[in-house]
Order: sequence, then structure tokens, then C-alpha cells
Amino acid sequence: MDLLVDLHTHTISSGHAYSTITENALAASHKGLKLLGMTDHGPSMPGAPDIYHFGNLSIIPKELFGVKILPGVEANIVNYEGELDIPYNYLAQMELVLVGLHELCYPGGTCEQNTQAYIKAMTNPYTDMMVHPGRPDFQLDLERIAYKSAQLNLPVEVNNSSLSTIAKKDEAKSNCHDFAGYMAKYKAPVILGSDAHFWDRVGEFSEAIALIREVGIEEHQILNTSPERILNYLAMRRRQRRSLSKAPLNIA
Ligand SMILES: [Zn+2]
Ligand SMILES: [Zn+2]
Repeated sequence: MDLLVDLHTHTISSGHAYSTITENALAASHKGLKLLGMTDHGPSMPGAPDIYHFGNLSIIPKELFGVKILPGVEANIVNYEGELDIPYNYLAQMELVLVGLHELCYPGGTCEQNTQAYIKAMTNPYTDMMVHPGRPDFQLDLERIAYKSAQLNLPVEVNNSSLSTIAKKDEAKSNCHDFAGYMAKYKAPVILGSDAHFWDRVGEFSEAIALIREVGIEEHQILNTSPERILNYLAMRRRQRRSLSKAPLNIA
């Protein structure tokens, strides 16, 4: 299985990541990737870039070292309504919008409140992909999320960093195993993400690959194998947005 895409990487702009987009793209090129997401954290995370960072993404070259670059964001869910920390008029200009729950950006709640927040964010027309549901920071109903992913045809990530670098790794591994099993059960669309915060982690999927094989996720469920499939999916999401007659313009 050739994995040619890493949509989830951070640059020095995130504040707690340590490589530039140039370094990440060079690493991606050396690993044979064809498509690279540049998804720095949304502005409500301490140390993350100001909103103006996200208004100037169009200056990033479309391609570096033979790798197509998709500048975007890893937006934060900020409340139980699943609202995000970036105004929609900024999200509308981005090539890639990842969404997830993070400590310090979301108040935390019951499993039901967290799951509702996550699922509401999945139904946001600006969301392209959800990230790291297996992280143990907040309790989630992982089966409902996998079911919703299949129903909406919205990819949810199997996050390599959750399996390799974060604290509470054992709990994360158990959650990720359960989640990947539900994604296999419902035949939902999966994207593997490195969540690299340093260039040497870009395109690193070893633990995620072992997990998806273990639970029986089928190759056709995994979007990373085809840059064209991902680009077609992202283009389709943008057509869907344009067809919405009353898209909200600002976060509440
Ligand atoms: Zn994250
Ligand atoms: Zn991330």
C-alpha cells in the first residue's frame, strides 16, 4: 500500500512545532509523498498563529520539491455546539480544514456533550476531515462517530501521533483500536495522518498502518493512497458549500 498523502502536519507557526513548511515539504518529497497538508492550529490554542496567518495562505507556493501543498488549518472546536475558532469567511478560502478537540480550547464535558460537539462539527460544511478522536483528553462515543463518518462520507483520521508520541499512550492506543474497529465495521472513509510537529515525522504512518491492518480496514477505505481521490473529494466539498444558499458568514 503506497501512502502518497499526509494531510495533517504542523509548521513552526503552530508555536509548539519546530520545522518550516520548506523543511516539511522537503521531507515529504524525500518520502515520496505527492500531497502535503499544512495545517497549523487554530488561533484559540496558546502559541498558535493569529487569524492574519490564515488570511495570507495564498502566498504559499502550490508546489514545493514536487509535492503539492494544501495550506489550511487544524481548527479547534470551542463549545458544545461544535463551533470553530475561525470565522467562516477565512475557512472558505482554505484548501483544507481539519477539525478536532484540544485541551485549553474546549471546556470538556460529559461523553454525550463531547460526542455531540464532535458530530455537530462533522456536519459543518466547511469541515473536510475530523482528527484524532482516539486521543484520551475527552470521552467520546467512538462508534457513533464512525457511523456518522460513513453516513456523511466525511473522513476521520487514524492519527499516528496518538499511537506513538503523546502522553497517556496506552489509553490512546486502546481508544484508537476501538475507533478503527468501528471504522472497519461501518466501512467509513479513513485518512491516516502523521500530525507531525517536526519534519522527521512527516509521512510517518507505521503505527497507524499496523492498526488498520489489525482491525481489517480495507484498502479502498483509505484515501491516502490516491492524491487524485483526495483532491476530487476536496473539490466536491467546495462545490457542496457553494450550493448552500445561506451559508453563515461568522462564528457565533
Ligand atoms: Zn490536534
Ligand atoms: Zn495536529
